[in-house]
Amino acid sequence: MKTEDSKTEALRALRTLARYETHGGYTWAAVMSDGGLLCVPCVRANYRQIFRATSDPRDHSGWRVEGMIHSGDSEQSETCADCGRVIWE
Ligand SMILES: [Zn+2]
Repeated sequence: MKTEDSKTEALRALRTLARYETHGGYTWAAVMSDGGLLCVPCVRANYRQIFRATSDPRDHSGWRVEGMIHSGDSEQSETCADCGRVIWE
C-alpha cells in the first residue's frame, strides 16, 4: 500500500526532474510504476498526464512515477520506455 509520504516524494521527484535533465554531473530519469524508465524530454512532453497519474494512487494508466534515478545509480545502459532513446550507457 502506498503512503501519502511516498506519493509526495514521487511528486517532488517529478517536479525536480522536469527542471533538470542533467544535474550534479548525472543524467536523470523517472522510474515508472511498472519499473520502466522515462527520459526527461518525455517527462516534460507528458508532464500533465504523469502528474495526474502520480497524484492518484488508483491510477493505472501506466504514467505513474515512483521516483527518480540517475546514471551513477545504475550499472547498466537504460533506454526510455516511451521514446526508446538511450538515456545513458
Ligand atoms: Zn523518452
